[in-house]
Amino acid sequence: MVMIRSVRGMNDLFETDLLLIRKLEKTINQIFCLYGFNEIRTPIVEELSLFKRGVGEMSDIVEKEMFVIKDNEHEYCLRPENTASVVRALIQRGGIDESFSEKLFYMGAMFRKERPQKGRLRQFHQYGVESFGHSSYLAEVEILSMIDHLFKELKVNNVELLINSLGNEQEKLAYKALLYDFLILRKEELCEDCKRRIEKNTLRILDCKNKTCQEIAKAAPTCLSSLGDESKKHFNSVLEELTKQNIIFTISDKLVRGLDYYQKTVFEFVNNDSLGAQNTIAAGGRYDGLFSTLGNKIDLPAVGLAGGMERLVLLLSDNYQNLHNTVDLAIVTADEYGRREVSSLAFNLRKLNIKTDFCLEEKSLKAQMRRANKVNASFVLVLGQEEIKAQKVTLKNFNEDQKIDVALSHSAIAHSIANKK
Ligand code: ATP
Ligand code: MG
Repeated sequence: MVMIRSVRGMNDLFETDLLLIRKLEKTINQIFCLYGFNEIRTPIVEELSLFKRGVGEMSDIVEKEMFVIKDNEHEYCLRPENTASVVRALIQRGGIDESFSEKLFYMGAMFRKERPQKGRLRQFHQYGVESFGHSSYLAEVEILSMIDHLFKELKVNNVELLINSLGNEQEKLAYKALLYDFLILRKEELCEDCKRRIEKNTLRILDCKNKTCQEIAKAAPTCLSSLGDESKKHFNSVLEELTKQNIIFTISDKLVRGLDYYQKTVFEFVNNDSLGAQNTIAAGGRYDGLFSTLGNKIDLPAVGLAGGMERLVLLLSDNYQNLHNTVDLAIVTADEYGRREVSSLAFNLRKLNIKTDFCLEEKSLKAQMRRANKVNASFVLVLGQEEIKAQKVTLKNFNEDQKIDVALSHSAIAHSIANKK
């Protein structure tokens, strides 16, 4: 029979893979809460039309990367990103007026039908933040300084923050037209994808990985030169505040981001250490127009960012080599008397918060000791007729060759171990 395997680009995660992921999740939770962001969880399956409208029909995500689920009446999909879902959830909950503001974060699995490679999966995990109702430049700065804080806390080194401004809706449109006029003259030199993009997704050409397209992009007009006074002032205020907070950035006047909804400030955190082409570890920007695009009566200013967890794991796995699970106590049974008592002793110790391990199956003393070693037990205790008769056990400290005699009672054992932790 053919073996059934997991779907390409979708990985199983075992305990050793999860240790670092859990550390990341914990740190992300702590830091985002520190900045006043509250968690939101939205469904993994959404209506396909949400992303067609929200992310844009001409974006790479919607054009090529969707996992679509069809039934007779509906087209659903596995979510490829979470911003459109978060905005949908807020609109659906209702109560959004001009004075509405809320800061939210999420973590979870996203799905994109891409070619799997290092740092690029079909099921991957993102953490993300969204700040709603704030048109001030301080909304961008708060997110950027929070992510800078997160990377410093996790000791992610060599991170570069790239930043640009696309201008407001009208300025972005005017720039699109300017860029179109420039690119159309060199259309024949562009790659096949970009020839297609030129009509509807002109800005995306600046993001193309093809060498010739990149050369052409270098000579193209920049969006910064199309900014009006208000957008220029907003962008400069972001940059001044970042400088004041010692957050180093590089203005990247060709940074456009692949999604339709961005306006004004856009940014990416990149790391050039070992990720190869998949070097963007978090990205986002301002998207003041998404609420009305998704059918809300009024628009709401918004800034957001999403980062890939797997790319962080790749960067951090060397720094956190000695993250491993440990057990407080392994109980080894010497005979059938010990075996009769071991399970109730272990259960009582676990209730007192002592992480306790023992073999469910009958095993030799040697095999039980091997297991105690394998589970990284701090203490080992042998339990048999002798110990039960004397109502005394000896706790052996695995690493320090230390022995402690204690009464055979779960509270006495728990107390001794807790004192040594
Ligand atoms: P890329 O240019 O790498 O395709 P993107 O612009 O499509 O990224 P976003 O949609 O902005 O990425 O997602 C934010 C972050 O999520 C990325 O910077 C990256 O860290 C992570 N990410 C995106 N797609 C994948 C994927 N297929 N596998 C793993 N991580 C991903
Ligand atoms: Mg992508």
